[in-house]
Amino acid sequence: MKKEILIQFCVMMAALIVAASLAPVLQKSQRYLNPDKERLLTAPVGGMHKVISDWEWMRFINYLGKLQTVDESNVKEVTERLERLVGLDPKYERLYLDGLSLIQHADPKKTVSILEDACKLDYLRDNWKIPFYTGFVYSRDTYDIKNQNGPPLLAADHKKAAKYFKMALERYPGNEPLNYLVNNYVRSMAKMEMVGTAPDREYLARLRFLYREWRILHSKDKALIDVKRQSSKVLITNLEERLLKAIQEARNPVDIYDHRFEPGKELRELIEQVKKEVFFDRALCINCCYPASGGDKYCTHCGTQLEFIHGICCKCNAKLNPGVSYCQDCGTKVAPVLIAAPKAKKKK
Ligand SMILES: [Zn+2]
Ligand SMILES: [Zn+2]
Repeated sequence: MKKEILIQFCVMMAALIVAASLAPVLQKSQRYLNPDKERLLTAPVGGMHKVISDWEWMRFINYLGKLQTVDESNVKEVTERLERLVGLDPKYERLYLDGLSLIQHADPKKTVSILEDACKLDYLRDNWKIPFYTGFVYSRDTYDIKNQNGPPLLAADHKKAAKYFKMALERYPGNEPLNYLVNNYVRSMAKMEMVGTAPDREYLARLRFLYREWRILHSKDKALIDVKRQSSKVLITNLEERLLKAIQEARNPVDIYDHRFEPGKELRELIEQVKKEVFFDRALCINCCYPASGGDKYCTHCGTQLEFIHGICCKCNAKLNPGVSYCQDCGTKVAPVLIAAPKAKKKK
């Protein structure tokens, strides 16, 4: 009898030791399988997070129905309720998109902090809308609605905006991201990289950025090809069309009051470089950069007088042999070459 108890005791002790040594391993693998579990609310809800979260969400909607607006008088409570909901169900997309838009103007700092946490969630690693929204909030100054002339509650941070727009592009399914996603990313990159105080600085930064991306894609330079290999996905689709639009806009820039001004020397030189390298076969108007066709005497967009010369290569300027379709020197397809008309003047 005594012997049996002793055996039972030994077995129990052995089981206890095994369990104790296994626990950290199991906990680790659980963390691996379910990495966001640690972010769940620690309240003892017995694993019923989803059910309680749905219930709380309904109560939240009901509560919002009684509010006129979210302002400093209630933003604290709305935020607390939202954070509790995020704790219960951190993968519920609507909490971030619909829920946070309620407090975005009253407490933008809190909004981006919750959004940034959501961008890191493993559960939501394929979600592009949340990083897009994060980028959107960072891309502009957010003012207190009641004090529009005061300092912004959250100032625009273009570096962070570009980071989150890029994340949204990388996560967007397929290879045809929505145009506004790409536009927002390009705009934030330009705002982030622009320097100086010249009125055309944003045009210059945008053109530089797009041209740099184009050169990476078309380069024979080994260092640039390595950069290309590192990025698995083309983030900026229709790059040439965007470049063409960028030089057209840069040629006729407007200030914040929509008044036209002359682009600076650096920008004009960059436009010419892009025309020569990217659009050598497109016959773009000398003045406005819109494409012209071979027989036009005047630009159909701006009315500038056009003059084409024939018989030279648009790429290497070699004198073409009569009747060839491709340049005998560099192999480029023959295209009409636009030069500045001797007495270039605008048609009335
Ligand atoms: Zn023109
Ligand atoms: Zn040639």
